[in-house]
Amino acid sequence: MPERPVAVVTGASSGIGAASARALAAGGWHVVAGARRESLVEALAGELGPDAATALPLDVTNEVSVEDFLRNVSGCRLVVHCAGGALGLDRIADADIDMWRSMYETNVLGVLRVTQGLLPALIASGDGQVIVIGSVAAFEPYPGGAGYNAAKAGVAALCDVLRLETLGQPLRVCEIDPGMVETEFSLVRFGGDAEAAGAVYRGMTPLSAEDVAEVVAFVASRPAHVDLDRVVMRPRDQARVGLVHRQD
Ligand code: NAP
Repeated sequence: MPERPVAVVTGASSGIGAASARALAAGGWHVVAGARRESLVEALAGELGPDAATALPLDVTNEVSVEDFLRNVSGCRLVVHCAGGALGLDRIADADIDMWRSMYETNVLGVLRVTQGLLPALIASGDGQVIVIGSVAAFEPYPGGAGYNAAKAGVAALCDVLRLETLGQPLRVCEIDPGMVETEFSLVRFGGDAEAAGAVYRGMTPLSAEDVAEVVAFVASRPAHVDLDRVVMRPRDQARVGLVHRQD
């Protein structure tokens, strides 16, 4: 691995993960970028250059994939968990249990698997950091959102407990909770329906992936004694989940 400090970014093939990888590389990190769509992380690493990035395939729901990924990472000081997302907007009465399971696997157990694997290296670095992209959905539940709300509340608990359990060790844990960010998030949520995804951001200005990445880079560059536990950020047009100002 190169001489720059190493940052693992999961979900680096699009959206917040790709933008975070770019922001961290610009800030002097060597980013190990992981996602299932290998060609996209390879293109990102190609753009950033060999000093600043390495691309590796990663499916955070698959233990073998996580083990293979981690075997190729050494000396990690920062992990940014961006792999995640929502599936559907079904109400509880009609909820598809497999979709709930999938959201829990990605948003919660994926964070657990990768964090567990990296924890010894993060602590051994003397200044380790875990940054998790959570969501305002963790504490602002909404009709149709229960599966995603539960998953993001679950990962929020993981962040809190990790901070408690590692007190006294050189590790910081930050949960960044964005509101609406225009990425592939809604396209994935609505199973590739571009019209439904576009309607989410109609008449309002959402955050961009770069807006969130700037905060990731800011958190990652604080001095070792400064811990930002939780950062909540939203577009000005969104007061709460479901309370959005639209011009139309
Ligand atoms: P996105 O553009 O859809 O990015 C999601 C990323 O997660 C992709 O790179 C995807 O890559 C990766 N991913 C999904 N399943 C994975 C798996 N099993 N293993 C590895 N990587 C996986 O959406 P985004 O908005 O950037 O989402 C990033 C995070 O922000 C998510 O946790 C999301 O819940 C959270 N968030 C988003 C918003 C929003 O409004 N956009 C708001 C709050 C929080 P591959 O498909 O290539 O694997």
